[in-house]
Amino acid sequence: MQSLSKRAKVLEKKPMTLAERAYLPAIFQGLSITMRHFFMKKATIRYPEETRPFSPVFRGLHVLKRDEQGRERCTACGLCAVACPAEAITMVAGERKKGEQNLYREEKYAVSYEINMLRCIFCGLCEEACPKAAIYLQADKMAPPRYERDEFIYGKDRLVEPADPDKRSKRGIQLTPEQASSLKVQLQTA
Ligand code: SF4
Ligand code: SF4
Repeated sequence: MQSLSKRAKVLEKKPMTLAERAYLPAIFQGLSITMRHFFMKKATIRYPEETRPFSPVFRGLHVLKRDEQGRERCTACGLCAVACPAEAITMVAGERKKGEQNLYREEKYAVSYEINMLRCIFCGLCEEACPKAAIYLQADKMAPPRYERDEFIYGKDRLVEPADPDKRSKRGIQLTPEQASSLKVQLQTA
C-alpha cells in the first residue's frame, strides 16, 4: 500500500557478513560500553538512605501549622482545596465546642484533613491560597517512599505539626535575607 505522505523509503535487506553472523562485533561493542560505564561516576544514589541536596526553592511535604499558643491554625475554609489543581485536598469542617479554644484558633476547624500525595504536584498553590498561614510546604522534607497506595493519603495525624514546640522542625519555606538575595541572583543568571 502506498503511504499517504509519499515519504516511504524502501530498505534493501543486505546479507550479513561472517563477523555479523557470529555476533562478535556486537558483543565486544556491548562489553566496551559496560566497561566504560563501570568506571564512570555513578549517576544514581542509594535513595532513600541517601538524598540529594535540596534546592532553596524546593517545595516538599506539607505541614499544618499551629499558632504561638499551640492551637491549630486551619479553619477548614476550603480555599486550599479549591486552589489545588490536582484536587488532592479533602476536608471535613466542624464547629469548635466550648472549652476547645486551646486546641483550635478559629470557631471552625478541620475535623479531618487529607492530602493525597500521589495526586499532589507540589505546586504550592494551597500555601498561597491559605488566609490563615496554616499550610506550608516544607523546604527540607519530601514524602517518603511507601509500598501501599493508602499510605500516601496523609491525614491530620501526619500533617499537623507536633504540639510540643521543641519537637517541631523548621518547616515552611522561610528563606533568610541572604538566601533570598542569592536565590534572586541565581534566577537572574539562569
Ligand atoms: S501543593 Fe499544589 S497539588 Fe499539592 S496539595 Fe497543594 S495545591 Fe494541591
Ligand atoms: S489550610 Fe488554610 S486554606 Fe486550607 S482549609 Fe485550612 S485555613 Fe483554609
